[in-house]
Amino acid sequence: MDIYEINSSVFGHSGFREGQMYLISSILNGRDCIGIMPTGGGKSLCYQIPAMTLPGLTLVISPLISLMNDQVAALRQAGVPAFALNSSLSYHELDELRYDVRSGRCKLLYVSPERLEAPAFLELIDGLRLPLVAVDEAHCISQWGQDFRPSYLGISSFIKRLPRRPVVAAFTATATAEVREDIARLLELRSPKVLVTGFDRPNLFFDVIRQGSKSSTLLELLRERRGRPGIVYCSTRKNTERVWELLLKHGIPAAKYHAGMPDFERRESQDAFQFDRVDVMVATNAFGMGIDKSNVGFVIHYNMPLSLEAYYQEAGRAGRDGSSADCILLYSPSDVMTARKLIERDGENEALSPEEREKLRRIELLKLSHMESYCSATGCLRGFILSYFGQEHPERCGSCGNCRAAYAVQDITTQAQMLLSCVQRIRGALGYSLGAGLVAQVMTGSRDSKVLELGLDRLSTYGLMKDSTTNEVRELISRLIELGYLNRNMRHGALSLTDKAAGVLFRGERVEIPVRSKRAGQPPDRAPARSVGRRRSRLGPVSEPVPEPDMPPKEFEALFEQLRALRRSLAAGLGIPPYLIFSDATLRDMARKSPSDMDGLLLVNGVGKYKAEKYGAAFLAELNKTADK
Ligand code: ADP
Ligand code: ZN
Repeated sequence: MDIYEINSSVFGHSGFREGQMYLISSILNGRDCIGIMPTGGGKSLCYQIPAMTLPGLTLVISPLISLMNDQVAALRQAGVPAFALNSSLSYHELDELRYDVRSGRCKLLYVSPERLEAPAFLELIDGLRLPLVAVDEAHCISQWGQDFRPSYLGISSFIKRLPRRPVVAAFTATATAEVREDIARLLELRSPKVLVTGFDRPNLFFDVIRQGSKSSTLLELLRERRGRPGIVYCSTRKNTERVWELLLKHGIPAAKYHAGMPDFERRESQDAFQFDRVDVMVATNAFGMGIDKSNVGFVIHYNMPLSLEAYYQEAGRAGRDGSSADCILLYSPSDVMTARKLIERDGENEALSPEEREKLRRIELLKLSHMESYCSATGCLRGFILSYFGQEHPERCGSCGNCRAAYAVQDITTQAQMLLSCVQRIRGALGYSLGAGLVAQVMTGSRDSKVLELGLDRLSTYGLMKDSTTNEVRELISRLIELGYLNRNMRHGALSLTDKAAGVLFRGERVEIPVRSKRAGQPPDRAPARSVGRRRSRLGPVSEPVPEPDMPPKEFEALFEQLRALRRSLAAGLGIPPYLIFSDATLRDMARKSPSDMDGLLLVNGVGKYKAEKYGAAFLAELNKTADK
């Protein structure tokens, strides 16, 4: 079989995605390569297809057992002989693995980097032909990435000890230049081909909600999305527990996941979510890397993450099967304080020298300030993210919360003047500048001991905004930073005036900001004639399946639900997660095309020969049942 045939008949894809062909042919031409694609971009195919065509055994180095197991399960569902070597294997499974590897039947073997040293592993692969070593999540090799794994540093010496050097292909979703250079250098790649695909995920809708109480906003968002699987991320274990209880109290079934829970409970929660037994997962960022669930319909951040990298990775777990999905962040200024605390606490990493720790802390604070800016951005949110990853983009995407929102212009000149002159007077009185927290306290006339100690209650600007809360003043400060009137020192957060501020203070220049109207985020066309699943909402659009089906919305939804129910019962019978049978995107395409025979079924995206043989009859029967009615 050639690679096109494998792609369509094994994986059921109708074509290749951006970058996949390039990487596959680089590997087949014997070139090392680095593939940088966003989460959900389709990295695994880039080494799985070469593995299936090259003679011998491909090793896939992967950092997490759950990640390996999931990939292997998906491959086996498609009829590909793959194994994951890990400690959870039974004696019998190990035997089978050894037989299949030694006999050459197994084409892909997943291993953790730690295992590369193990004598039993070296014995297992001894004398075998290894054409390709694929390194998944390759950013784990870099200290400056988020998930440094020292054992990744051993990969290059493992490769050097092999009798014949295989092609080495590395994959990651982390795009920064430092990480990319670390990967090439530390894996000792030989003039690798580097491919960075676009980071845009057009099927994701981005929004930030800043007004209103978070808990009622969350409940409303979840009610609008009832019946779709989704994740609610919280910053701490305590918040996770609180939000989880809130949902249960309001009758929304949810699972929870954080590092403070016992292993078995975490596994239970994860299974409930993976197997579609519960739709909502409330979790800290401990829930993530190993999650390969492709039908996540939304990711809501109840708290702001520490960086845009983290945000994009977590939010990117939505819509991996290509269906539209929502990524919504609930922001409040107090999240910034929590985030700072988390960074300070992280700064106690014993493995680093004090200088390295300080450097890391500065990098993290810088990343946090970008995250903060995203939360208060008034321009295109998708554009903001793409710029951050160094990618060009149109000024407006037209499909994020900010692009869709209606804006009114608000004149905040008076508030801006008060605040800027307060910052100036503090500096005049003390000879140095203070951070946003203290400035806000002075503005609101706080009797805080620090304020009194410094004699700030004697400033003429003291209490000028006593009708506002400190959070509102902090918000104003963020705005003025975004607009370039104030500077925030990266190291200690002290505020200072920029040249632009003088215009407002001394030359009567006005400060105007766009304010999103309450009904922000609504799709522009209120009542599309034949759109399916586009439920309108006050807070944000619920995504719709693409492309639109050729039948009345109600019937389409009913058929989709019917197919989902069939999938659930088949999966329950086999004891596997439903999405391993077919993804939601595949079921939608199936409902849309409603094929009546095998040939038609094979035209559905995501249906390959192997799966058609296994499950085709059941799904066709279901479809024909509906057609007969
Ligand atoms: P990544 O590892 O980059 O996060 P995956 O390899 O898990 O992404 O792929 C994400 C999803 O995209 C999977 O559901 C996969 O089936 C799908 N996919 C990958 N390549 C294609 C393709 N060429 N056509 C259609 N779907 C694809
Ligand atoms: Zn936009």
